[in-house]
Amino acid sequence: MGLVEHEYQLPVNDEEWRALATQAQTCVENFYHLPLLNRLKNLDSSEWLELEELNSFQIDGCKIWVSLDACYRRDDQIILLDWKTGKSDEADHSLQMGIYAMYASEKWGIKPDQIFLKEVFLATGKTREYDSKSLDLEGVQNYVKESIQQMQNLLSRPEQNHAEESNFNFTEDTTQCAQCNFRKLCPKWHSGDSE
Ligand code: SF4
Repeated sequence: MGLVEHEYQLPVNDEEWRALATQAQTCVENFYHLPLLNRLKNLDSSEWLELEELNSFQIDGCKIWVSLDACYRRDDQIILLDWKTGKSDEADHSLQMGIYAMYASEKWGIKPDQIFLKEVFLATGKTREYDSKSLDLEGVQNYVKESIQQMQNLLSRPEQNHAEESNFNFTEDTTQCAQCNFRKLCPKWHSGDSE
């Protein structure tokens, strides 16, 4: 296993790694105390739909990748679970949840109001639930379409999905670089001005 801290030789002080180890242990303990776990254990194999598979669907002819942590059928409903291991249980993930709901609706041919999503915050044991009413799926779809359009506007030959690297600026938000998987390839990283 390679962690980003190892790959990039990032300093991690004793206090930090101990806190992370404790958090990981708390997440595992909370997982085993989830009331939901009994339901999951008792599901028939025919009720399980997906477990951490990389899949995709299309919006405006563009492939959108999704990987559901866990997904199962209950009567005529579909339940999507998303495990969160971070400390905060307050960040807004409604865009991610909305995209999952759109994927599930298309994949299993069911109406959005038959889809229920549950975020499980393993560090605190709290959960947050969503349904089609709380998600504003039309707004999510519009956001994704606009985002696709913005990226396609930067392509030099859109019909061939061809891009010139020089048309894409480096992010000015350097906190993004800290967790970026492409830092070793990124000229901004190599030129040493990513700090
Ligand atoms: S390392 Fe490069 S590619 Fe990654 S977020 Fe920063 S600027 Fe973007």
